[in-house]
Amino acid sequence: MTATYQSVDVPFDYRHTCWFCGEPYFESYAFLPSPNYDHQKLPILLPSCQECYGICKGIKASDLELLRDKVKEQLHRKYQKHLQIGVNWTKEELEQSEFEGKALEGFRESAWSMFEIAKERVNYLGWPLTIDGLPVASLSTSFHVQFDGINYTGLSHAVEQLAKSYNIPQPYLEEVVEVVGRDRLSYAIRFAKATYGYSTAERAASIDSLKALLAEEAVLTLPERQNAKGIDVNIGDIAELILHRTLIPPHATQWVFKQGIKSLNQLSEQEDAFFEHFGADSELTAFTYFTAMQIYLEHRELEPEWAEHQDPNRAWFDKL
Ligand SMILES: [Zn+2]
Repeated sequence: MTATYQSVDVPFDYRHTCWFCGEPYFESYAFLPSPNYDHQKLPILLPSCQECYGICKGIKASDLELLRDKVKEQLHRKYQKHLQIGVNWTKEELEQSEFEGKALEGFRESAWSMFEIAKERVNYLGWPLTIDGLPVASLSTSFHVQFDGINYTGLSHAVEQLAKSYNIPQPYLEEVVEVVGRDRLSYAIRFAKATYGYSTAERAASIDSLKALLAEEAVLTLPERQNAKGIDVNIGDIAELILHRTLIPPHATQWVFKQGIKSLNQLSEQEDAFFEHFGADSELTAFTYFTAMQIYLEHRELEPEWAEHQDPNRAWFDKL
């Protein structure tokens, strides 16, 4: 009797598990590539949960990697609301929130676990596929993008989902990401959120100023001394100043002193920490402060004479 299927090896720990998402096993999906470029004769049986089994039946894919990614994308779409819980709240906020009424109380109790289940499923990476010990295909994740602990199948998938989660028009976010680069998704999202509410012309101007800012940043990226030592300065001892029609807020300057930051490059290394600190009040404040600090530090770098003799905070910078 000849075999009509090929079954993949299932390691002991993964018995009764869906290869796509880690949920309990329901049935094996028989995968045959479509289009079948390599003329594969026998379908490969992939252990699946009920949901992934149903999703697979509606997918055409020319290889296993594509099949896996398409399943993940559909899980993302289906559980968009659940995944968004993690964008809108932290676990603590949710626990402390005062939802009233039975339905909302139920939501509070189950929301975080719904988020965690959805996140685990979209992030789940299966096990290496072999048949009788031989690798079936090399499945790569090199195009995958992770943001805020959640995996996406690629940059365009991430941008599509994140635009929805953060309520930013997708074409605008795409444009910003293209300018800042795929490694700076969180910066791109903050920038897009802070600037998207304006007219087309203003958006174009925002993109232009972003390009200019990044070009300057690239020029000024020089190797820095490590382990900068910070200083604590009382807020009253820090001068407020105006540079290029931008107010340089003492609170942001104080934070910068505390971290021992005295160059643009060091500031960009601390970008996430900066936004975490000031973003607690408001994203817009954090963004405005960050821009002000970029202007301040850039001015100091471009005008060393001014930095040395005129900057009202020069005594503090000297201590860094
Ligand atoms: Zn599944």
